[in-house]
Amino acid sequence: MNHKHFEDLLLSDKPLSPDESYELQDHLQKCAQCRNLKENLESVETLFATTPELEPRLGFSNRWRERLAIEKKTEEIFRNRWQSLILLVLIGNGLLIALFILGFQFSGYFLNPSQLLLSMIARFTSIYTALNIILEIILVLFQTIPGVFPPIFWIMSLTLMMVTCFLWFVLLNRLDFSRRKVKP
Ligand SMILES: [Zn+2]
Repeated sequence: MNHKHFEDLLLSDKPLSPDESYELQDHLQKCAQCRNLKENLESVETLFATTPELEPRLGFSNRWRERLAIEKKTEEIFRNRWQSLILLVLIGNGLLIALFILGFQFSGYFLNPSQLLLSMIARFTSIYTALNIILEIILVLFQTIPGVFPPIFWIMSLTLMMVTCFLWFVLLNRLDFSRRKVKP
C-alpha cells in the first residue's frame, strides 16, 4: 500500500479535489496507520486552535527583555538618586558643621551686631595694613637689590625662570597628551 501519497494528501495545505478526497476517505477506512496520522493531525490542530496564549507567547521573550531593561534603568536611576542624596546629605552635614563652628565662634558677635561690625572693620584694617607693609617691603627690595646684585645675576635668573616655565609647559603638555591617549 502506498501510504506516502495519502500522507501527502493529509498534510497538504491545499483543498483536495473530489477525486482525491474520495480516494483518501477510501484509504483511511482500510488503513489504520493513515487513520492514526489523520487523528494526530486533527488533535494538533485543535490544540493550536484552542490555545489562545500561543500567539502572545511569541512576544513573551521580547516583553521580558523590555521589562528587564526597564527594571535595570529604574534601578540605575534609583542608584543615581541615592548617590545624589548621599552627596547632598554629606554636603548638608558639612555646611551644618561649618555653620555650627562659625556660629559658635561668632555667637558673641551675633548677640551684639555693632561689635561684629567693629571687629570686621578691625580685621579688614589689619589685613590692609599687613598688605601695605608687605608691599612696602617688596618695593624697598626692588629699589635696593638691583644695586646689590650684578646685572648678570638678573639675566641668569630670568633665563632660569623662563627655562623652568618651558619645562613645566612641556611636562604638563605631555601628561595631558598621555592621559588623552589612555582615555579616548
Ligand atoms: Zn495508509
